[in-house]
Amino acid sequence: MKIVRLAWGDKARYGLVEGDVVYAANGDTLRSLERGERLSTLSEVKLLPPCTPTKIVAVGLNYADHAAEANREVPAEPLLFLKPPSAVIGPNESIVHPPLSQRVDYEGELAAVIGRRAQHVPPDEALDYVLGYTCGNDVTARDLQRKDGQWTRSKSFDTFCPLGPWIVTGLNPADLAIESRINGQVRQQSRTRHMIFSVADLIHHVTQVMTLEPGDVILTGTPAGIGPLHPGDRVEIEVESIGILANIVV
Ligand code: ZN
Repeated sequence: MKIVRLAWGDKARYGLVEGDVVYAANGDTLRSLERGERLSTLSEVKLLPPCTPTKIVAVGLNYADHAAEANREVPAEPLLFLKPPSAVIGPNESIVHPPLSQRVDYEGELAAVIGRRAQHVPPDEALDYVLGYTCGNDVTARDLQRKDGQWTRSKSFDTFCPLGPWIVTGLNPADLAIESRINGQVRQQSRTRHMIFSVADLIHHVTQVMTLEPGDVILTGTPAGIGPLHPGDRVEIEVESIGILANIVV
């Protein structure tokens, strides 16, 4: 199932996509959505971020090749940080390059969207708490990350968390191809099997600390190949079996 959120009149609503057709998504919870009436074609609707997280939990240095390019040791435990919900934008929305930073990077990532409230989840049950997966871009003001010594400011600017284009359910996250492109040029290319901590490990670790709510997002880390974004760039994050998240930098 492909779950979208779309603008409908002056409201947002969930839909289910099949081929080029968007159907109404009926149900009380994200996990119980069922296909309703035909709404539109995909090309005629404006897609919104596919979920409305109460928090985005991100993971630093979860691919060994990225830790090496950052001159950092591979962490013994997942290195967690938060991005605020106010940073979230949807597919085709603009990433705003803030004047406070001279160096804004893309980070293509697999994003896991939580489907039901999760607390103290053991690793072998963790994937049952996932609604599905989407593409994420953990946009980062690299100069401010170095300068501040902690990551809140560098990771939290408005528009620094593109998510989408939709949530795909029933996907095995263990070995998906992930690729980032700038203006059509491939910059990052890896597979999720190279993650140091798996999606299940991450959910286990995060839920020892905080409760995850339906719609919350875990950004699972970025592979090697990070680099700067400039106004006018088109950045695409593609994850196998999900699709392409495209945004323009302004
Ligand atoms: Zn990241």
